[in-house]
Amino acid sequence: MTRRTLLIGAGAGVLGVILSSCTPEPAPTPTPSRTPTPKPTAGAITPAAFVRSAWTSDPFSRGAASYTPVGTQQSAREALAAPVDDRLFFAGEATDTEAPGTVDAALRSGDRAADDVQRVAGDGERIAVIGAGLAGAAAVSRLVAAGHEVTVFEARDRVGGRVQSVVDEEQWPVPAQLGGWLFASADSEMAAQLTRLDIRSTTLGTPLWRSAEGDVEPVSTEPVQAAITAGQQQPTDVALADALSESGVDLEDPGIVALLAAVAASSGSDADEASTWFPPALPPTELIAPLGDLGAIVDDLLEGAKVSLASPVSRVAYDDAGLSLRIATGESLSFDRVVITVPLGVLQGKGLEFAPALPFAQRGAIAELGMGRIETVWMRFDESPFAATAPEEPAATAPEELDAAVPTVWHVVGGDALIRTWFDLSAETGESVVVGIVGGDAAGEFAELDDQKALEAAIASLAPFLATP
Ligand SMILES: Cc1cc2nc3c(=O)[nH]c(=O)nc-3n(C[C@H](O)[C@H](O)[C@H](O)COP(=O)(O)OP(=O)(O)OC[C@H]3O[C@@H](n4cnc5c(N)ncnc54)[C@H](O)[C@@H]3O)c2cc1C
Repeated sequence: MTRRTLLIGAGAGVLGVILSSCTPEPAPTPTPSRTPTPKPTAGAITPAAFVRSAWTSDPFSRGAASYTPVGTQQSAREALAAPVDDRLFFAGEATDTEAPGTVDAALRSGDRAADDVQRVAGDGERIAVIGAGLAGAAAVSRLVAAGHEVTVFEARDRVGGRVQSVVDEEQWPVPAQLGGWLFASADSEMAAQLTRLDIRSTTLGTPLWRSAEGDVEPVSTEPVQAAITAGQQQPTDVALADALSESGVDLEDPGIVALLAAVAASSGSDADEASTWFPPALPPTELIAPLGDLGAIVDDLLEGAKVSLASPVSRVAYDDAGLSLRIATGESLSFDRVVITVPLGVLQGKGLEFAPALPFAQRGAIAELGMGRIETVWMRFDESPFAATAPEEPAATAPEELDAAVPTVWHVVGGDALIRTWFDLSAETGESVVVGIVGGDAAGEFAELDDQKALEAAIASLAPFLATP
């Protein structure tokens, strides 16, 4: 049971059907990209479970995570976040300047927008939130706690947005995460949410860099960091790829290619698109990976609000007196203030019309910022097809040190792998589960493949790690 009021949108009349505050949670929606039966096969290696994302073509995200393209100032994000006439309040990861494109950014932006609303909202005002991702949910939580009545309009038939945990115990020993999940610091907003809801996590680290010829030296991020520092001394912003070339880094070097693939897989942007003044984050030495249903965080934050699913907002009309939202079902509803959390890709794709048009500052920011591409694939095998990755046991090594030395992050060096960054969850789950993550142009390419071709590309990418390559 949930205290959140669930409204069913499309086809039922948005405000027509109120399933009261005691409506059971809807059953988890099966992901549409789940492999149909029969499962695709990639030669002799066939996963028992396979699921992949499709954010690049998703009309309600149109990409995965915002990035700062070369030549764009981070102030574009502040411009996007500025309230319009104290009626429209923008949130979402793209409005965050600290770590845009992350789950933390989304949570923080929702809090910030809710504070902005509260500074001007009077008692009894009707407040709407567009989008039930982390940003929208965080805003709701703060507004509801302050005593406001909040209505959420979510385009999809599920909440969570770019956070999507596939909970299916028959297929996955832990929920498969198709969107954002990893973070680097135990101090983060996401860590606080996991602690609050008692969702367990694990640490991924000890990277293993492997080519068709065998293990290779770990590739240091130092030359990339040095190129970024040099780029930041330039009078104008230069693309990360140019800064690397100018610093003498060989962009064709297989190790650098693998490292930059990992950067693209977390930022969504390739080195020729990324700024050095506002650079993408380099891979941290350790990542924290939640092992539970992240939908529980969103559900919890949405408690106390009315949530209307399958209700894409197509138009926001605003003036001195208030605002009106047009829902794709045809209805128009009036509110006093609205928090808009739709992804940058939706704003760029004109998925939401504004009347009057947004001020230049916002439109400029929307046009300037970049929407990156990230896709992910999860595979579980009944029998592990992978060669051992644990180091040989030196006589004097204590068992706990040996555990820490088992690599859980795999980098594919050389060859023409489409997916070069992998996580091995076998130590944590006791089953052969690997997660591939790909960003930038390669993600766009991966997104265009059908399931069979995507599986073949995934298995082919893993060739250096297979027992029989
Ligand atoms: C594959 C992938 C991997 C990622 N990996 C990581 C990671 O490891 N770590 C990390 O920190 N971050 C990661 N991210 C980024 C992270 O997921 C996002 O930054 C974060 O979830 C964004 O939250 P948000 O609330 O800003 O936007 P969203 O979650 O996109 O929420 C916006 C909501 O608005 C809805 N919406 C869109 N249009 C309309 C409309 N017209 N009307 C009504 N509703 C609408 C959407 O359906 C959505 O629910 C990843 C993202 C992807 C896609």
